[in-house]
Formats: sequence, C-alpha cells, structure tokens
Amino acid sequence: MSVEQFKTNYDVVIVGAGFAGMYQLHKARELGFSAVVIDGNAEVGGCGTVRLSADGQAEAHT
Ligand SMILES: Cc1cc2nc3c(=O)[nH]c(=O)nc-3n(C[C@H](O)[C@H](O)[C@H](O)COP(=O)(O)OP(=O)(O)OC[C@H]3O[C@@H](n4cnc5c(N)ncnc54)[C@H](O)[C@@H]3O)c2cc1C
Repeated sequence: MSVEQFKTNYDVVIVGAGFAGMYQLHKARELGFSAVVIDGNAEVGGCGTVRLSADGQAEAHT
C-alpha cells in the first residue's frame, strides 16, 4: 500500500513501531480513530526489540 493510500484509508498514520508508535496506535484507536502504524523494519518494537542469539543470550535490536 502506498503512503497516499494510507492517508486515504486511515485517520492517523504513525511512522515507527517502537514503544512510542505502538502507544500512539493504542491511544488513537482508544479515542475512536482508525489508525495504522508502519515501520521500515519487519517487526515491531524498535530499539526495544530483544532477540535470543544462537547461544541463548539476549541481544538488543540495532
Ligand atoms: C540496549 C538497550 C537497552 C535499553 N534498556 C532500557 C531500559 O531498561 N529501560 C528503558 O526505559 N529504556 C531502555 N532502553 C531505551 C528504550 O528501548 C527506548 O527509549 C525506546 O525503545 C524508544 O522507543 P521509540 O518508540 O521512541 O523509538 P524506537 O524504538 O527507536 O522506534 C522507532 C521506530 O521507527 C522506525 N522508523 C524510524 N524512521 C522511520 C522511517 N522513516 N520509516 C519507517 N520506519 C521508521 C524504526 O525502524 C523503529 O522501529 C534501552 C535501549 C537499548 C538500545
């Protein structure tokens, strides 16, 4: 979907699915707006994302 289509289909378009963006998404929907969050990464969480490495150690998303 293009940015123009997002603008047409949603009241609120949030760029960035880190903690701030996900909270904005929650609040916008709570207030009755149709909202979507988009991110350059394939997963949500931003720099708060933590993965487990092959040896089971937690490593922060960079
Ligand atoms: C190792 C580490 C440990 C931490 N420990 C703690 C802790 O113990 N306690 C604490 O309170 N905080 C901690 N923090 C900080 C906390 O993780 C961050 O403050 C918080 O995640 C920031 O969230 P944010 O939504 O503001 O930004 P981000 O998490 O940076 O999210 C921004 C998102 O926007 C996306 N984005 C940016 N520009 C674009 C664009 N042009 N188009 C599409 N997508 C875009 C990015 O891909 C990213 O997903 C830690 C951070 C790190 C790295």
